[in-house]
Amino acid sequence: MLEIQNVRAGYGAINVLWDLSLSIAPGKLTTIIGQNGAGKTTLLRAMMGLIPVSQGTITLDGKPLNGTPTWDMHKVSMAMIPEGRMVFRDMTVEENLMMGAFAPQHRAHAARNLERSFEMFPRLRERRRQMAGSLSGGEAQMLAMARGLMSDPKVLIIDEPSLGLAPVMVNELFAILKRLKDDGRTMILVEQNTHRAVGVADHVYLMQSGKVVLSQAASEVSLEHLHGLYFARES
Ligand code: ATP
Repeated sequence: MLEIQNVRAGYGAINVLWDLSLSIAPGKLTTIIGQNGAGKTTLLRAMMGLIPVSQGTITLDGKPLNGTPTWDMHKVSMAMIPEGRMVFRDMTVEENLMMGAFAPQHRAHAARNLERSFEMFPRLRERRRQMAGSLSGGEAQMLAMARGLMSDPKVLIIDEPSLGLAPVMVNELFAILKRLKDDGRTMILVEQNTHRAVGVADHVYLMQSGKVVLSQAASEVSLEHLHGLYFARES
């Protein structure tokens, strides 16, 4: 269980997250939605140790993560797939995947995890020797996801994966998220595609101005109510 309790964080003097609390259940897909600027990416950055938390705690299975540097996050088995994919353009698909298993404890399982990635993403197998810079946007997103899975993380954090993708690739992406969820992977999905995100999730958090304004089981979410809150003017 990943627990975020009363967290405040931001950038220097600018505070973005205000006493935020969320629980991420193991083996479930939790989606965090909210308008541009709501603070979703900032929350992910705080979870990954990319920005300091000025108040509150973040714990994974009871152990505090605050203060764990980002480069050590793989040791506690957290991996993030950032917005914008960020693949290494001048490296092949396979080399990009191997970068996801750079740490000694992951290298031992790299061959097995590579094979598993190719099973899940057959397009990547076909393109394993191709330079990542020549992939389509959808293929690059698949590569970023597959690379995130190379360390077999306990918690996989995915920031806006559907951004800029063609509808057919969005379908493929959500089918993969569903499969990962059915495999019991703990995932945090930040999305602006509210309808699709709620459709695949177990739990939904809606953020506004750095606060949680709705926390509900996905099966109980009324999209109408959610959209009403989503587009509500901030007071
Ligand atoms: P989007 O959906 O547009 O990515 P978001 O919900 O992820 O939005 P954040 O990127 O977390 O929102 O931004 C929250 C607030 O923090 C915004 O007001 C933004 O301008 C501010 N912010 C983000 N990054 C920085 C930064 N590096 N320095 C200062 N302020 C920042």
